[in-house]
Amino acid sequence: MKILSGLNLQEIEQITNELGASKFRARQIHNWIYLKSVNTIDEMTDLSVKFRDELKKVATVSDTKIKVKQESSDGTLKYLLEFPDGECVETVLMRFDNRANLTACVSSQVGCAVNCSFCATGKRGFIRNLSYKEIIEQVLTIQRDTGLKVTNIVFMGQGEPLLNLDNVLKAMEIFNENFQIGARRITVSTSGIVPGIKRLADNDMQSTLAISLHAPNHDIRAQLMQIENKYPMPELKKALKNYIEKTGRRITIEYLLIKDLNDTLESAKQLVNYLHDLKCNINLIPYNPTEKNDYQKPSGNSIMRFKSLLEQSGKKVTVRLERGADIDAACGQLRGKVK
Ligand code: SF4
Repeated sequence: MKILSGLNLQEIEQITNELGASKFRARQIHNWIYLKSVNTIDEMTDLSVKFRDELKKVATVSDTKIKVKQESSDGTLKYLLEFPDGECVETVLMRFDNRANLTACVSSQVGCAVNCSFCATGKRGFIRNLSYKEIIEQVLTIQRDTGLKVTNIVFMGQGEPLLNLDNVLKAMEIFNENFQIGARRITVSTSGIVPGIKRLADNDMQSTLAISLHAPNHDIRAQLMQIENKYPMPELKKALKNYIEKTGRRITIEYLLIKDLNDTLESAKQLVNYLHDLKCNINLIPYNPTEKNDYQKPSGNSIMRFKSLLEQSGKKVTVRLERGADIDAACGQLRGKVK
């Protein structure tokens, strides 16, 4: 049985050819899958009943299951999706300001090898890469379930996207061409995988790069993120400068603010110093405690003080709104609970 979801136009044409139908039928099916997000072949109402019956004998829309779905009071939806091999990933849909802006936060791997100390996914280790079809299937499942059209994609779910870059780049291409989501509306977030950043610098895609820096110096970063020992901050900075030079694009620095660890005056000064010659915006993320670690949420005052110190250096700084605070919205929490 063929799975239509995730096939490109040429692949759908092969199926329609085998059924003796025209290329136009393939285009219709393609639209139903990517733009109208149907759940079943029977919903493809501009195909004749006879042709739909033929198609149902050889194909189905999807084989991905929604295992758990949680809805937050702010409208954030969190899904645990199960692929046919039984592996699960989390995908989140966030609705900002007006409902026209719908951002899907997608996973790129099952588990993750990077093992950041604040992350539930990292604790369970790496299981496998997602194929590009499994990456786009996350967005298609959301669209089918909600009937809404996703407008923005962020690779900030489970996994390190730059350690699965071939599949991530292919998925980005498909988001761009088949879902008609502009590359500028796609953000790839990395823990700082230097060779991947170099590859992205040489790629034509106009997507946004976000770096999970989370620390102002080597010692704090190494405590939070083991990756600092492999790609230390000076080497990371060189790669970021190269990326900015080659693409001309501004990057986003993600900084998880943790009480008394990296939210001090000294940390703010060191961070300003590290970032002073990088074309970047800074996104502060107040830490949202999960069950099993000692890190704590910073106070409102220390968030504001940290923000204003960074702003004095001339950078644009935002504080990320807490989404899905009443559900398991942090990376890896939902999968951890179900497993
Ligand atoms: S924060 Fe991201 S990179 Fe770090 S362990 Fe979790 S999933 Fe992996």
